[in-house]
Amino acid sequence: MARADEAVDVIIRGGTIHDGSTGKPVIGDVAIRGDRIVAVGRPGRYTAARIIDAKGMIVAPGFIDPHTHADSFLRSPDAVVRVNAAWLHQGVTTVMIGVDGYGTPDVAADSGKLAGSGIGTNIVPFVGFGPVRQRVLGQDARAPSAAELGAMQALVAKGMCEGAVGLSTGLFYAPQSFATTDEVVAVAREAAIRGGLYDTHQRDESSYSIGLLGSVDEAIAIGRRAGMPVHFAHLKALGVDVHGQAGAVIAAIDAARRAGVDVTADQYPWLASGSSLDASLLPRWAVDGGGAALLKRLDDPATLARIRAEMQDNLRRRGGPGALLLIAEGFPWSGKTLAAVADEWKLDSRDAALRIIRQGIAAPGAKVGGTAVASFNMAQADVDLLMQQPWMVTASDGSDGHPRMFATFPEKYARYVRDRKVIGLPTFIRQSTGRTADIYKLDRRGYLRPGYFADVLVFDPAAYAPRADYVRPRELSVGVRQLFVNGALALDDGRATGVAAGRALLRPRPPGCAGP
Ligand SMILES: [Zn+2]
Repeated sequence: MARADEAVDVIIRGGTIHDGSTGKPVIGDVAIRGDRIVAVGRPGRYTAARIIDAKGMIVAPGFIDPHTHADSFLRSPDAVVRVNAAWLHQGVTTVMIGVDGYGTPDVAADSGKLAGSGIGTNIVPFVGFGPVRQRVLGQDARAPSAAELGAMQALVAKGMCEGAVGLSTGLFYAPQSFATTDEVVAVAREAAIRGGLYDTHQRDESSYSIGLLGSVDEAIAIGRRAGMPVHFAHLKALGVDVHGQAGAVIAAIDAARRAGVDVTADQYPWLASGSSLDASLLPRWAVDGGGAALLKRLDDPATLARIRAEMQDNLRRRGGPGALLLIAEGFPWSGKTLAAVADEWKLDSRDAALRIIRQGIAAPGAKVGGTAVASFNMAQADVDLLMQQPWMVTASDGSDGHPRMFATFPEKYARYVRDRKVIGLPTFIRQSTGRTADIYKLDRRGYLRPGYFADVLVFDPAAYAPRADYVRPRELSVGVRQLFVNGALALDDGRATGVAAGRALLRPRPPGCAGP
């Protein structure tokens, strides 16, 4: 007698299944019941209320974005914004937050609040070195005392015990930049002994302080000495001084891996980084104290001369005024390069930049600068070479004023897989799913396997594409047909359903944590 068909909630039928592993894609079904995947591959005896015809579609695990600044969406008072549409429309179901050293040590309270408010994507939090150091040392540019170091270590331990995936640092940014390597090692060890990884916006991606290669060596040394995996956030060779150094960076990472340090990296597929006009050109000391203090310095001829001299070097490092695209909605210079604006105004490019910065300060409610820039400072050959490494995964670094927030994954697919064939489709999917889940040891995520959580993406390989660009960075991407987050449909027929099914993916309590 025939067995009765098993009832599930959804069957995704006849798609080309990339399961997140290195295995070959297969044509078949994915069955979902509740928040879990029930079956993958050969059609089984299932009945379902919803059957999705995925013929010709790619079926993959929901993408994982390990470096995001999604907070402005996730923490919005508006429930519609909290679904995190910029990421959903790329097929992303999980985002890491608290990166660059900015994550709070109050991981349980913060993640609980976020998940409880109804968010569209899963979140994975880091405890960040920035708030840790700031709570103990404020903005001080000095070494901690033994007691202060102990207080910092306790905060990192707290974050890890509450479920953080690891310690993030942004040693490029003050006050984190004031920490020596030894201090970072001592603090990172608290994450290491609790199973965390070291995730870093490294001290120098260019030629600002210790140089790109010196900085790569420092991060690897921190991982080796603290006894933990090292992950480089948005790995790149930034600026003309270090163009062509991708090969040397790769050699250093490969050597460390052979020596037993688990080193990995993520990367966004854009030649421009995102910054603000003031941060990319002005020396740090010039903006100390904020906008009013800066204006005072600009009004002093001797100080202005010093600022202009340092601006010249920063301009050179970033490839000149033609490599800086200004983005400031509503302002006449938006969408033009600094070189073009300087030309129009018949000014030296530094003086044109200062005029824009002055107007930014004068605008009501504006922060210093006010104008964002897309800084074209990466060489295509470096980006390509880094992308082809087996330890590389995809990340957006998504932040306001740069198309990477809305379009990183489809941009990588369209430009690097389909058009330029730098990597193949299976590699692109693996770099956006299973490989990333492995690096962060995510529990039952990143693969299409029975029993795993049903974060599932169905996209049309002919239509999946970015719509955002540098001038219009906030356009939603297209081509995702369906997106399931924990078994719930977040996108259907390419449209957001408004369902907010994201969860906080917290690590189970590691050993060495006090309390219940
Ligand atoms: Zn960063």
